[in-house]
Amino acid sequence: MDNKSFRVIIIGGGPVGLYLAHTLALAQIDYILLERQASVLNKNGHLIFIWPQTVRLLDQIGVHEQLREVAIPLHAKKRIDGITGGVMTNSHFWESMEENHGYAFLPLLRPDLVRILYGNLPDKETRVRTSAEVVDIQTTANGVRVYLHDQTVLRGAIVIGADGVHNRTRSLMQTLLRRATGAAVDIDPMVAHFHGIFGRASNKDLGIEQAVLLESRGSGSVIQCTATRETVHFVTLTPLPVAAAGRRGHQATLQKMEAHAALLADIAVCPGVQFGDIWRRSDKNTARKLNQKKGFLTCWHHDRIVLVGDAVHKGTSVNGLGLTYSLHSAAALANKLQHLLATSPTNPSTVLLDGTFRRYQRTREAEAKQIWCNGRAIIRQVTAVSWMAWFWDHYILPWVDIERFGWGLLISLLLIRHGHTLLYIPFEGRQGSVRWTRQPKL
Ligand SMILES: Cc1cc2nc3c(=O)[nH]c(=O)nc-3n(C[C@H](O)[C@H](O)[C@H](O)COP(=O)(O)OP(=O)(O)OC[C@H]3O[C@@H](n4cnc5c(N)ncnc54)[C@H](O)[C@@H]3O)c2cc1C
Repeated sequence: MDNKSFRVIIIGGGPVGLYLAHTLALAQIDYILLERQASVLNKNGHLIFIWPQTVRLLDQIGVHEQLREVAIPLHAKKRIDGITGGVMTNSHFWESMEENHGYAFLPLLRPDLVRILYGNLPDKETRVRTSAEVVDIQTTANGVRVYLHDQTVLRGAIVIGADGVHNRTRSLMQTLLRRATGAAVDIDPMVAHFHGIFGRASNKDLGIEQAVLLESRGSGSVIQCTATRETVHFVTLTPLPVAAAGRRGHQATLQKMEAHAALLADIAVCPGVQFGDIWRRSDKNTARKLNQKKGFLTCWHHDRIVLVGDAVHKGTSVNGLGLTYSLHSAAALANKLQHLLATSPTNPSTVLLDGTFRRYQRTREAEAKQIWCNGRAIIRQVTAVSWMAWFWDHYILPWVDIERFGWGLLISLLLIRHGHTLLYIPFEGRQGSVRWTRQPKL
């Protein structure tokens, strides 16, 4: 199959856009990827925990070994009392993942992930266009026109919006949807209820325990740290006094970051170390303060535009699942698109495309919503300050901690084993003691 007359325009060169580019290349579907920055490669970025089912997806496109080489070792998770620094729970469920599924958890720096995805993309010189900010999209009966800030106009068959939470494609799509249906459509449904800092600091004289995810809670903020011998990676989240929409607070000044860090300084991150100790040793040039938005779109597509990744479902980083469910949505979309193009005319009609996009949303919506809702419940729980939250953390959680039962077997059975793959690529992959479930039919 060679769908040269059906060109996909991917907007956004983050991990989701780049993964999609791989899936389309493997399906021999013509595409171009547009990224507004001067390069998709960026030296700075947070740590992303890649779950085993997602590592499997990445194995299918041939980058697993390279990702393993740069992953940060992780064996355990400890929940810390943010007031006293005491250890409340200690679980080792990460260790059993490779045995359960054949793939380990891989904590990766976003720049490493993006570099490897981009580096392995075939024909990237001609397929990826940087400094290409999309400012408008128009749809016609048999295609789309995408307008860039430099007034270039690109033509294609469909647009896939993978441009993240601060998303132009979504607002353009929502406007078209409102115009077409007259329905009350929320143009920007993503709202921040939490803000925080992510960054890295020297661990040389701090000596924070390596290969352990430390989660400090019970102080009103949650602080997660993962250390190697040299470096500690951290992310903090605190409720905002007033919910914030738009891009406000997206990248705060150093002064605002310092003021925020000062409020967290006394919070214990592990026995004997407070956040202030980490902040004093942190690299202020690479640290970022963000309003972490959340929202879940009701309609993931309209006409010839379809959205994927943070553009559709965005939670806070607290449960470390944002990229995982985004990449699984991207794989589901690629499966549906490939199937459509393999079984229908060269340039399928808008009606056929609409059916395909609807099936994509139906395949993914329930699982994504469940993960998103769990994330919302977790962030409320870990930032709550009440005697109930304290009692839960100290006396109930140690007994009902899902991560400790059978070395994480419940998480393996309920979540990890249901991972998607690309159905049009012959793939054996690795297998552990918990069998992968069969995927839904196309
Ligand atoms: C602190 C932090 C920690 C996290 N930890 C985890 C974790 O442990 N595990 C996990 O699974 N997830 C984690 N996440 C979430 C994860 O990082 C995101 O889900 C993921 O990066 C989303 O990828 P994306 O490609 O959809 O969007 P992005 O990474 O936001 O990429 C979007 C791209 O689109 C480009 N773009 C935007 N607008 C335009 C335009 N108009 N024209 C052209 N290009 C445009 C942007 O420049 C950008 O390159 C974390 C997030 C944060 C903030």
